[in-house]
Amino acid sequence: MEPNMRCDQQEKIKLQLQVINALGNEYSTLYLIDCSTKEWSIFKSSSNTLIKNILDKIATCADYETAFNFYIDKYVVDEDKEYLRNHIAIECLMEETPDIGIHSLNYDRMFNGARQHVQINSAKFKGDDGKSYIVLGFRDVHDIIEKQMKQEEALREALMSARHANRAKTTFLSNMSHDIRTPMNAIMGYAALAEAHIENTAQVQDYLKKIRTSSAHLLSLINEILDMSRIESGAVKLEENIVHIPDVLNDLRAMIQGQIASRQQNLHIDAKSIAHEDVITDKLRLNQILLNLVSNAIKYTGVGGNIYIRVQDKPCQISGRVSYEFSVKDTGIGMSPEFIDHIFDTFSRERSSTVSGIEGSGLGLSITKSIVDLMNGNVTVHSELGKGSEFIVNVDFKLPEQNHAVEEKSKKAGVGASVAKTIKMSEFKRVYNYNGKRILLVEDNELNREIASTLLADAGFIVDEAADGIEAVSIIYKAPEDKYDLIFMDIQMPKMDGYMATREIRTLQNNKKANIPIVAMTANAFEEDRRKAFTSGMNGHIAKPIDMKSIAKVLDTIFTE
Ligand code: ADP
Repeated sequence: MEPNMRCDQQEKIKLQLQVINALGNEYSTLYLIDCSTKEWSIFKSSSNTLIKNILDKIATCADYETAFNFYIDKYVVDEDKEYLRNHIAIECLMEETPDIGIHSLNYDRMFNGARQHVQINSAKFKGDDGKSYIVLGFRDVHDIIEKQMKQEEALREALMSARHANRAKTTFLSNMSHDIRTPMNAIMGYAALAEAHIENTAQVQDYLKKIRTSSAHLLSLINEILDMSRIESGAVKLEENIVHIPDVLNDLRAMIQGQIASRQQNLHIDAKSIAHEDVITDKLRLNQILLNLVSNAIKYTGVGGNIYIRVQDKPCQISGRVSYEFSVKDTGIGMSPEFIDHIFDTFSRERSSTVSGIEGSGLGLSITKSIVDLMNGNVTVHSELGKGSEFIVNVDFKLPEQNHAVEEKSKKAGVGASVAKTIKMSEFKRVYNYNGKRILLVEDNELNREIASTLLADAGFIVDEAADGIEAVSIIYKAPEDKYDLIFMDIQMPKMDGYMATREIRTLQNNKKANIPIVAMTANAFEEDRRKAFTSGMNGHIAKPIDMKSIAKVLDTIFTE
């Protein structure tokens, strides 16, 4: 062999060794095992002193299997011992390691009281001496496995929550379908009966009354379902304003008085000791909380029972705020402790309407709880079967700025007592008389147009109709300036929607036409729809289904302005 050729080969071997070393960096230790004699040698030793100590201990073992069994006994966790012992045997390694490529074994060991994930990779080759060899490389895969385990855990959780959401959706849909079909069935059934007995006025009147009751129930159900889903999706934001708590209680009393009277129940309101009557909160939502609780108290308490509403405020630990407690207590049917655990779940009812004869959806309390949560408050329940229930809502309200100054004064004057005195009169039956007023009714749905037109004509209006926004703008554009007193405008319409039509009318050159009162009459019934109507230049908002009472309420504000 010529000298420079030998030099080339040596260089090549050196380079190959460097390549192997670079690849071997991934392993803390590398062993070479002679498969026929089971002799072993350490090819690369770890820099880790702990591993070095172990190696020193096992170095005294002559053959590979004895050395490994010593290692397994001492360091491998109990649950992996058997597995590793079986798989580390030479025959097994020879069988499981492919001719080209590597075979991996994963196990956990305990070092200094800490559990570590380790991987052994094996590769085999035939030496120039004709013998079979196995190379074993030990890798610390603790961080990789931990990361993998975390990812798997996250995936498992995501899967579980997706399954849970799916199940909840299915239950929700089937509950909803059932609860909607029940009143719907009554409406359709009574409509058919009314048709069949059309000559019998008394009978038809009775059927119509039942249709009305079922429609009202259906509407409140739809409202609750929508409210619930909007709260859950985070679409509901609190509209905070200064709220006079006695007003809330007076409104509440006015709303429930009819039901209380018809069930001959006794209502006791105790709000005398309120020191801070003005607070900052969302009046509508606070009202909804109290109305839900009080309506339940009335519903689930028999004739002649007692309903107690107690409101008190206490100083709050945070300055500028006040802690309020609202308690609604009844002497009604009460609830079992098992049911109370699920009382705030959607659609949960202790007895179905069929069993109890009491209408309900099982949504009221979940909505109540969600709103109280939105207010950062909490609601608790105490109840005993056959004795009665008490719901307590605790919530901290912000105080209006000036309240600090008048705080003491109000306390001395004892203004809390005013609740008992000022009760708003509920609306009595009213005759609507809008004789001679001409309106333009803009509505694309023929049925809705007919209903609204008849209702408005019965109240004395002269009604002209338009089927979409473009037609409405054109009618107003061509009409004499004082022809119309008002426009009722649907929102969702083909060609041009109600918002756009309003904006077009508001930009007409003729000042009188441009300022004509426009009232939204729409199925877009949420608070944000209401706000959108006003920002588009409308003067009022009426949610469908319409009735003369709600129309008159809006018209009263417009015509008396
Ligand atoms: P709904 O009254 O429409 O069924 P809620 O969510 O308001 O739905 O109430 C859920 C259930 O909790 C009711 O069906 C009833 O079983 C029980 N419940 C609520 N309030 C009372 C109460 N004051 N007394 C007895 N049971 C009540």
